[in-house]
Amino acid sequence: MLLGCIADDITGATDLALTLKRSGLRTIQVMGVPDDAEPLKSFDAVVIALKSRTNPIAEALDWSLRSADILLEAGARQILFKYCSTFDSTDEGNIGPVAEALIEKLGGDVAFVCPAFPTNKRTIFKGHLFVGDELLSSSPMKDHPLTPMRDSDLAAVMQRQTKLPIGLIDYTVVREGADAIGAAVTQALDDGKRFLVIDAIADHHLMAIGKAAASHKLITGGSGVAMGLADNFVADGLLTKTASDAPMSAKPGRAAILSGSCSAATRGQIAIAIAAGIPTMRLDALEVANGSVTPQAFLDFAKQQPADQPVLIYSSDDPDVITAVQTALGRERAGSVVEQAMAEIAKGLAAAGFTKLIVAGGETSGAVVAGLDVSAIEIGPEIDPGVPWTKSLDDRGLVLALKSGNFGGERFFVDAWNKLAEGA
Ligand code: ADP
Repeated sequence: MLLGCIADDITGATDLALTLKRSGLRTIQVMGVPDDAEPLKSFDAVVIALKSRTNPIAEALDWSLRSADILLEAGARQILFKYCSTFDSTDEGNIGPVAEALIEKLGGDVAFVCPAFPTNKRTIFKGHLFVGDELLSSSPMKDHPLTPMRDSDLAAVMQRQTKLPIGLIDYTVVREGADAIGAAVTQALDDGKRFLVIDAIADHHLMAIGKAAASHKLITGGSGVAMGLADNFVADGLLTKTASDAPMSAKPGRAAILSGSCSAATRGQIAIAIAAGIPTMRLDALEVANGSVTPQAFLDFAKQQPADQPVLIYSSDDPDVITAVQTALGRERAGSVVEQAMAEIAKGLAAAGFTKLIVAGGETSGAVVAGLDVSAIEIGPEIDPGVPWTKSLDDRGLVLALKSGNFGGERFFVDAWNKLAEGA
């Protein structure tokens, strides 16, 4: 294992895992602090997904430090602390306290602070974070319900969260490349700085920053700052890159699509799948709620279909239908009835020899992954932007595509299977 990552939320962890996979690292994502370092050792990069962004500081510290312990035990040579590209935090934390605890634990001298993600229009110039054309403090993030961001000056924001001295490496240095950045780091160390906010407005800046961070024990930032790290391991002879678009091998077995997302994109994908002749069964939330239909009915249906095609089970519906269901059941119960049913169905399908699942919907995916008791996933090829094939890191080797509602092209349910290969 080369790179250990600690992410402060789950979708951020997947975003980072995909970036690492694309850069040629064999990557897995683990849900929560793992108990055992052993299974992590055979991967190049491990991303631990925590839910520590807005939790009490003590909890965020405990989980992050225990994660670092496990990653070090698994062989990590460098730790990346991943937070949001809009630096979601308050004056109390949790970015500053967690970064400070990690740098002390790792015995690091200095760490970059770089949430820039130019592809998603998050850039840093003269230490100020921009979201699109606006300063962070003028962007919609100023009104975030949990972490309102009303100051764009990252050094000032970070300094309110840590006692360690903060410096800035600005664009005039970054544009000169890794050597210039290295010289600026040496100077900053002489000045006693421990965290360095660093400008980046384009991906090649992130590549230079990654190169300059080769000897740093801790790096902090968004997923973008990870882009250049794989090359350091190659340069040190520690890594042979793995092609990121190689198909993922799936155990022989049947395929199913479970859709609880009601987004327009998903409903379009369902229409295309039905038109393509994929056998389909609709889950009616009210029928499931009153017990007139049980998950078993969907399992019976799935098992009766031809084995050479995926089956599609969906609860997705138009907004007016969903509103009616929510009025009848209450919003929370409506969601949990469907999620619970999807989780049960997924469990039954896995037991019946289905090895490949597409799940549509963020909440739905969370419920299905919990229902399947999947605690770690290997990241495979990207199917469509932001959605990779993944494989459960257990004896079942379940192949899963967890699609957030709005993601994926219209033929997603039909074509995603093409990026799988039969194998072990
Ligand atoms: P997305 O990623 O599109 O937001 P999610 O899975 O996160 O999808 O959210 C969809 C929510 O809608 C889930 O809580 C799901 O259980 C709920 N839902 C799905 N189908 C129905 C339905 N027919 N009636 C009521 N709620 C539903």
